[in-house]
Amino acid sequence: MNQDTWSRVDHYFCDALLPDDPVLTAALADSDAAGLPSHHVAPNQGQLLHLFARMQGAKKILEIGTLAGYSTIWLARALPEGGQVVSLEANPRNAEVARINIERAGLSHLVDVRVGRAIDTLPLLADEGLAPFDLVFIDADKPSNPQYLDWSLKLARKGTVIIGDNVVRNGEVANPHSEDANVQGVRRFFELMAANPRLRATAIQTVGSKGYDGFSLAIVEG
Ligand code: SAM
Repeated sequence: MNQDTWSRVDHYFCDALLPDDPVLTAALADSDAAGLPSHHVAPNQGQLLHLFARMQGAKKILEIGTLAGYSTIWLARALPEGGQVVSLEANPRNAEVARINIERAGLSHLVDVRVGRAIDTLPLLADEGLAPFDLVFIDADKPSNPQYLDWSLKLARKGTVIIGDNVVRNGEVANPHSEDANVQGVRRFFELMAANPRLRATAIQTVGSKGYDGFSLAIVEG
């Protein structure tokens, strides 16, 4: 098996299951045109996030790492009227592209994109009384994953779902000697999840159009 096969099968899944979506296609085109990296989730992964949010009955969603708002749109579309996605983005240029994409999707009334380092904006969410969130999607700088887990728990309730993206790091997540700060951040994130009696968690490896990767999934039990 190789990347060609994984991409071919992902395209088959997307063609079979996901209707053409001009708004999402335009979001990716605008992201490319603005020179943003293609670090957004794949369409079938976006649909997975959407389904998780629906299964969870999420009304309040926290996303850490907006980029061009692609995953944000998938998540916001899962909300009932009156719901909210708060999405945190450090790069003002990314946030501006995201805002335009979210507006085109007709979702501006449901999405609040906050510009700034998430470690600085997360405490404000607590102060503003926006918690608890029903679902948290962690998809930003991996060295900060341990702090993002800590904040997710502070902003959670019993039953909150916490998803962490890109946790495989080309397999290096299983290397205790890695000196890569991203790997170390993800490994510490796993250690903290494992040690926390409030959490029940798993992680799944994936292949697809985005290569070899994986995500973690946890629920707050208490
Ligand atoms: N969730 C997006 C999607 O799937 O469409 C992709 C997010 S991309 C993987 C990671 C994003 O996190 C980038 O836009 C990056 O600028 C942002 N980021 C990196 N460090 C950050 C930080 N300290 N605080 C907030 N956002 C950060």
